[in-house]
Amino acid sequence: MLSSAIQRIKPSPTIAVTNKAAELKAAGRDIIGLGAGEPDFDTPDFVKEAAIAAIRAGDTKYTAVDGTPALKKAIAAKFRRDNGLDYGLDQITVNSGGKHTIFNAMLATLDVGDEVVIPAPYWVSYPDIVMLAGAMPVVVPCPVEQEFKLRPEQLEAAITPRTKWLIFNSPSNPTGAAYSKAEVAALAEVLLRHPHVMILADDIYEHIVYDDFQFATLAQVEPKLLDRTLTMNGASKAYAMTGWRIGYAGGPAWLIKAMAKLQSQSTSNPCSVSMAATVAALNGDQSFLADRNAAFVKRRDLVVKMLNDTPGLRCPTPEGAFYVYPDCAGLLGKTTPSGNILTSDEDVAAYLLDAEGVAVVHGAAFGLSPAFRISYATSDAVLEDACGRIQRAVAALR
Ligand code: PLP
Repeated sequence: MLSSAIQRIKPSPTIAVTNKAAELKAAGRDIIGLGAGEPDFDTPDFVKEAAIAAIRAGDTKYTAVDGTPALKKAIAAKFRRDNGLDYGLDQITVNSGGKHTIFNAMLATLDVGDEVVIPAPYWVSYPDIVMLAGAMPVVVPCPVEQEFKLRPEQLEAAITPRTKWLIFNSPSNPTGAAYSKAEVAALAEVLLRHPHVMILADDIYEHIVYDDFQFATLAQVEPKLLDRTLTMNGASKAYAMTGWRIGYAGGPAWLIKAMAKLQSQSTSNPCSVSMAATVAALNGDQSFLADRNAAFVKRRDLVVKMLNDTPGLRCPTPEGAFYVYPDCAGLLGKTTPSGNILTSDEDVAAYLLDAEGVAVVHGAAFGLSPAFRISYATSDAVLEDACGRIQRAVAALR
């Protein structure tokens, strides 16, 4: 018999779409998968070389549970350099991927009955991690009309005496929306009035921003929140290292210590070789980030234009990450060539896959409908083909 905890959660829907697309492809169908949340770029060579050198040097044994001193030092330097934040080594944790960082933080702090404020659309794993811990996600809808961003008055209204955390993700998965310094400051003002609320700042897309957008993390914008903020980040997105599984965070020493205790009884240290690679990634020349962003921004513009040229879709231009989240309210109620009426974004996603072989993730998975998420971390040619197929599928609706 399964535990009640495992029965409270569902498998990750983004992973499900990626798997389904792979299955159909293997069965011979012409499929374009736009579901996966990972850069199509390769891990930089200098990072791979550092990993190979680490293996040769024998860095292949258990390490300190929540990160090697070398990596913690590199992370402290990164927080200072990029975010103006001064964390001691006892205020830094390293984990097996950003998801693991969030998991540890939630499991170490949440009790049954606690509430966690999560603006929607949200990254799919937040509510499930919270529910696994026995706590309750308090989902705050942030629709396209407000550019998918949480407003201060919404935050104020969502906080109760039971609120333990706000999960704050900028730039956002799934919308790409990023909060300006002024927008972060306005939310910080609300948080200052509620000293019992902790904040998880998920900065994993920090380096993937466009059009001179200036990223600023919460604890930097409002230093008075530093002692109750967990500033979380990771190697996955910026350095195209999704498979290496390294996430990390800076935060108050009591929380970092509790997370290490949990990790000591579960996964132990993150992969030693991946940690050595991440030291190189963080300490190395960062100039390739700008080259990659230049490629991403071209793709963003291509996708946003083609989607907005499609009647029934409405796609804001995101400031960061590599996702767009077109609203598809204009497609609901329409009939497909085979006679099905589209009643939800799940229907729309199923239709796009069935009719034209384009795999996207339906908005309900991210808590805000009707919409779907496209990951544009793939080549211009594939994106042009995919958006052309979406246009064709939409034109065939009655
Ligand atoms: N946070 C957000 C918003 C994400 O989109 C992801 C990955 O998709 C993660 C955290 C976790 O990244 P990983 O566990 O792959 O390091």
